[in-house]
Amino acid sequence: MHHDDALTEARIVRFMRERLTPALLRRSAPLDVTAWEVPGEPVPFETAVAAEHRPFAVGDAWGRPWGTTWFHVTGTVPTGWDEPGTRIELLIDLGFSIAQPGFQAEGLVYDPSGRIVKALEPLNMHVPVQVGAGGVVDVWVEAASNPDVAGVWDFAPTPLGDPATAGTDPIYRLNRVDVVQLDVTVWELLQDCWTLDGLRRELGPELPRRAELLRGLGRAVQEVDPDDVAGTAQLGRDVLAPLLAAPASASAHRIVAVGHAHIDSAWLWPVRETIRKCARTFSNVLDLMDHDPDFVFACSSAQQFAWMRDHYPELFERIRSRVAEGRFVPVGGMWVESDTNLPGGEAMARQFVAGKRFFLEEFGLDLTEVWLPDSFGYSAAMPQIVAAAGATDFLTQKVSWNETNRFPHHTFLWEGIDGTRVFTHFPPADTYNSALAATDLHRAQRQFQEKGESNVSLLPFGHGDGGGGPTREMLAAAVRTRSLEGSPTVEIGTPSAFFAAARADYPSPPVWSGELYLEFHRGTYTSQARTKRGNRRSEHLLREAELWAATAAIRTGAEYPYDALDEAWHTVLLQQFHDILPGSSIAWVHQVAEANYQAVAERLTALVDESLRALTAPGDGGPAGFANASPFVVDGVPALGVAATTTAGRAVLSGRADGGFVLDNDLVRVTVDADGRVTSVLDLAADREVVAPGAATAELQLFRDTPNQWDAWDVDLADRTHWTVLDRADVVEVALETPGRVAVLVRRSFGSSSVTQTIALDAGRPTVDILTAVDWHERQKLLKLAFPLDVRADVASSEIQFGHVDRPTAVNTSWDAARFETAAHRWVHVGEPGYGLAVANDSTYGHDVTRTTREDGGTTTLVRKSLLRAPRFPDPTADQGEHVLRSTLTVGAGILDAAAEGYRINLPLRPVQGAAVDPIVVVDRPGIVVEAVKLAEDRSGDLVVRLYEATGGRSAGRVSFGFPVRSVRRTDLLEREHGEQPRLAPDGSVELRLRPFEILTLRAARMQ
Ligand SMILES: [Zn+2]
Repeated sequence: MHHDDALTEARIVRFMRERLTPALLRRSAPLDVTAWEVPGEPVPFETAVAAEHRPFAVGDAWGRPWGTTWFHVTGTVPTGWDEPGTRIELLIDLGFSIAQPGFQAEGLVYDPSGRIVKALEPLNMHVPVQVGAGGVVDVWVEAASNPDVAGVWDFAPTPLGDPATAGTDPIYRLNRVDVVQLDVTVWELLQDCWTLDGLRRELGPELPRRAELLRGLGRAVQEVDPDDVAGTAQLGRDVLAPLLAAPASASAHRIVAVGHAHIDSAWLWPVRETIRKCARTFSNVLDLMDHDPDFVFACSSAQQFAWMRDHYPELFERIRSRVAEGRFVPVGGMWVESDTNLPGGEAMARQFVAGKRFFLEEFGLDLTEVWLPDSFGYSAAMPQIVAAAGATDFLTQKVSWNETNRFPHHTFLWEGIDGTRVFTHFPPADTYNSALAATDLHRAQRQFQEKGESNVSLLPFGHGDGGGGPTREMLAAAVRTRSLEGSPTVEIGTPSAFFAAARADYPSPPVWSGELYLEFHRGTYTSQARTKRGNRRSEHLLREAELWAATAAIRTGAEYPYDALDEAWHTVLLQQFHDILPGSSIAWVHQVAEANYQAVAERLTALVDESLRALTAPGDGGPAGFANASPFVVDGVPALGVAATTTAGRAVLSGRADGGFVLDNDLVRVTVDADGRVTSVLDLAADREVVAPGAATAELQLFRDTPNQWDAWDVDLADRTHWTVLDRADVVEVALETPGRVAVLVRRSFGSSSVTQTIALDAGRPTVDILTAVDWHERQKLLKLAFPLDVRADVASSEIQFGHVDRPTAVNTSWDAARFETAAHRWVHVGEPGYGLAVANDSTYGHDVTRTTREDGGTTTLVRKSLLRAPRFPDPTADQGEHVLRSTLTVGAGILDAAAEGYRINLPLRPVQGAAVDPIVVVDRPGIVVEAVKLAEDRSGDLVVRLYEATGGRSAGRVSFGFPVRSVRRTDLLEREHGEQPRLAPDGSVELRLRPFEILTLRAARMQ
């Protein structure tokens, strides 16, 4: 046989593009348009329709960046269009480019009563139309002129991410506003061709099926008359019907396709736009549900549902009824799809508490799946938190973005630091934005690592990131691939249906233990330092506010500020979204986030002050003391109590002949030379020099920071070889000299920036305090604070939620090599048997810890904290300006000393007037740490205490309550009775035995 495959292929492609696509619309007729540009921020429908609209011509420019224009579209459907095999719709092209949906203009269509009809997006421009009497068409379009911030993804600095710099000229041109008559047969034929041609391209040239598809498509092209596509389209479909009817092979990979829209709660758009994005996407989804009874849609993030309830109540009620039918499926159980590297322990727990509470209260649903396709790596604390929230299944996709190593499993048990295992799936198609194209289906089949043991995977489909969601074309593809020879099989399903199938298919999956480290986006531990500081500060203020409000409620009967706390938590949880806290959003998002953190701080500080005033009754003129919200004793003030400090000892400072200084508090002796370098830190108790020979500690190092791509997200290993040490001081002088504290101030300037470091010692504490105030005006630089320590550490223990993770310091494997920048919360601990050191911080997360053997045979463990970056995309002004960052170095420290120091510097003692306050919760073993003290979510007045085992070993101890207790129950994170119950001793205490890193929630009912 003579082969003409290439010619046939070209013919099929051109046929689809130039014959079928233009023939989709039998007829179209223009409609009349008037427009009104909203002068400021978005307005409600009622305001828009009452505004004065001016005539507007198709082809005219509209929409300044971030603006809103309302279009009123009216006209009549010409007579005679009501033909069989056709559908009358509107087609509105706002001026969409070929950029992906969700990254440019979008519209929301309303009927004249204000009811939402559907959205307008690129690749989804049709509107189902209710034709009134006499063929009248009348709709309103709320068009958002969102700029395409990413452009061609060259990561070039752009002014578009801030309305103050984005410009005011219109950026779109209204392309088309028509009523159209869609030819349903031609549309179906186009979907047939798309699916079969896509399948053909995935099959090997040796396969008969591939040749059969090519010949069949070629014949279909021949059957359709280019002069009468509408009249002959059915003949083409008849040729393809047997090809579509050939069933899948028995061993075909099975794909459960889950419709969703990964709507980033803020990113290259602000939160206020995300609220509208949700309305648009969900209205698309509801429209699809009206037309396709098999379609189900999974939606994560309680926050996004809450926005609909609060801003679009009519739409929310429609969602609610689809939820009741089981077709609009809430998934994930978290408040938002948060980052998991950076949120603190209690905040991570609250993502689930707030999320699951919402789904229980609004829909009566107790969700069991966790849905985090896009977060930048997954903390090893997550399995236990997930399980403690009552969830059983976990989904992620992001580890497919690893630069170096290929993750070995797609379905596995993920084991956390405490041993908890959670069933986890990682969709092998490597995308959460699939259109169900054959390329995605076959990639899933090809890459699925569990082949031979399991044969089912999940594929999330629908336009995502900026929203849009599934389309009718995607559903058409799903129908055609349900059972199709040569293709994986596709069934539309829910996440829970998938997990049930996957568990049944694979009863003994492999285990991955520890964090799911993402070998990518390592700059997100550091970018946008002010946002990170706001998060850290908010988390600790929330702890303080809850602790003192609960103490005041129990001791004085003060009212507990449930609503104010809920509101503050919701803000903090929202801003832990995986593009806000990681620092990867536009300038606008971070400006709003920082203002929100400021408001949260003011509100919570007022609550703390109010509670402490109620508790200490300062009017009685009692002595002054300090409130200690830390779970450890600080300067003699009991954990969770108020008392005077009892610190003894002294701190002294002396000058050196070279112009430097020596600081000494009888525990540590610190030498600062004339250049402001900390050349010695002597642990006097251990008689041990801590600084590596010849090195200086607390040293500022300035690195080149020029990632290949994803500027705010990435730091590249290549830049680790280009750095300078800021080792010349402008000024070294005494900053403070009192019996309780001595400090030396070191001022340096570099580039366009300056930095003032304060090196201080407090009496009675084996800790060097380093305050770094930076006026930062660098571009594409990374500032690190380095601690070269004379200790041979095998691992760096980094604080994560409810414990710590040990990461090797040696670089043996490609996995070790790729882990060159890591996240830690408040502290990193390094040590060798018998001796350890802790480096703690009050607002930063990025670290790197490496180890070298010196010429003298000793080992230097180098702990470096990443203080500041200055990426230029997507926020060209990221991190510019003033920052104050606190770090400490504690000598002779064990893990619990590190933990105590981490709490101490994030929860400074708060000076108060009035009487002392005994703690309402006392734990008699330091290994059992109190993470939260609050009143119960159900507002019953019960006290809830969250504790965890902090050493990584077993801890036994007694918890007693500073008030009469009726009962103490162990609960899950949602404060529902769960697990083995403790026995209440006659004195109202309970004895606990915790396994390594175990989280435990207790609920204590008060004696009435
Ligand atoms: Zn995302």
